[in-house]
Amino acid sequence: MNFPSGRTIFVVLEFHLPFLRVLPSILVMAREFSLIDRYFCRPHARKDVLLGIGDDAALLTPPPGQQLAITTDTLVSGIHFFADVNPYDLGHKALAVNLSDLAAMGATPAWALLSLTLPDADDIWLTAFSAGLFALAEAYEVALVGGDTTRGPLSITLQLIGFVPTNGAITRRGAQVGERVYVSGMPGEAALGLAYLQGKLPLAPRCRDHFVNRLQRPTPRLALGQQLRGLATAAIDISDGLLQDLQHVLDKSGVGARIDLNALPQNEFLDEIPLEHRRTAQLYGGDDYELCFTVSRDKSEKILDLSMACGVLVTEIGTIEAALGICDLDGVPLAAQGYQHF
Ligand code: ADP
Ligand code: MG
Repeated sequence: MNFPSGRTIFVVLEFHLPFLRVLPSILVMAREFSLIDRYFCRPHARKDVLLGIGDDAALLTPPPGQQLAITTDTLVSGIHFFADVNPYDLGHKALAVNLSDLAAMGATPAWALLSLTLPDADDIWLTAFSAGLFALAEAYEVALVGGDTTRGPLSITLQLIGFVPTNGAITRRGAQVGERVYVSGMPGEAALGLAYLQGKLPLAPRCRDHFVNRLQRPTPRLALGQQLRGLATAAIDISDGLLQDLQHVLDKSGVGARIDLNALPQNEFLDEIPLEHRRTAQLYGGDDYELCFTVSRDKSEKILDLSMACGVLVTEIGTIEAALGICDLDGVPLAAQGYQHF
């Protein structure tokens, strides 16, 4: 075999050096594009997406007579989820928490953008993560229309855009004295799942599976939220704890609330948790993504029908009062604490 002389090698290297220098970034870019194509470019049925993933920006056509409802949420490894969490569940949750925000506004979701920061391009992880994300996206006819992909500590930011009829959104600011306070589902279950995973609460397998599932696969209450338009005067989704999130509604509306602690919804799983633990989880536990909302007394009989139509338990838990703050039926103040990032 003939080897090139030393001089030839030098010339060849010198000639190729600029190319060699940019080669790693070209390879990274090629990998980034194939990663996006492979895991995040999926067909969808939305006709309002003129241009989705693959250009500098997506082109979308909002429907006439509707306002856009836009929200975003970030999930950071070690803060919002355990680094070794099942990536399918994480894909589900990244979208579910945003869907829940639109549910609380009475909006219908349409388009999503995904900003992913990944330590590496792990095929198994990305396959499961995207499967969890798209299973929920397809269920609610959400099209992923763009995003960004960078390398770094695992963090997921999802932005969701939906529609609501002009001036039809339910906000936090409409609660009035005399109205009833309702909550969907079973607040507290996700917090009990978290307490179990943190080793703070031993649980029998049946309860454990149920609570951990509520933590990792929350169900956004979209049908309920949409049907509450024109019925609920204010609404919020419970991400940081029932009382803390209810307090946001009260602050915006300039009112207070009286809560019947014995009316808090309970099921056969919560029944197994000692009262003190259960109460703390129900009132202060986060991550449930249930809806808390207010309805005037004359419309309250419609809530049962709505609950049946949506297949979601809805429970009356209290009333709106003029006196600020939250208290129980005996007038004892309930501290509106919950999860705080700062
Ligand atoms: P630019 O540098 O112009 O912002 P990118 O190279 O970041 O574009 O992305 C190329 C295309 O892929 C864009 O359409 C972008 O929206 C989309 N994209 C990038 N990352 C993701 C992701 N994680 N999920 C969905 N779409 C993505
Ligand atoms: Mg980019």
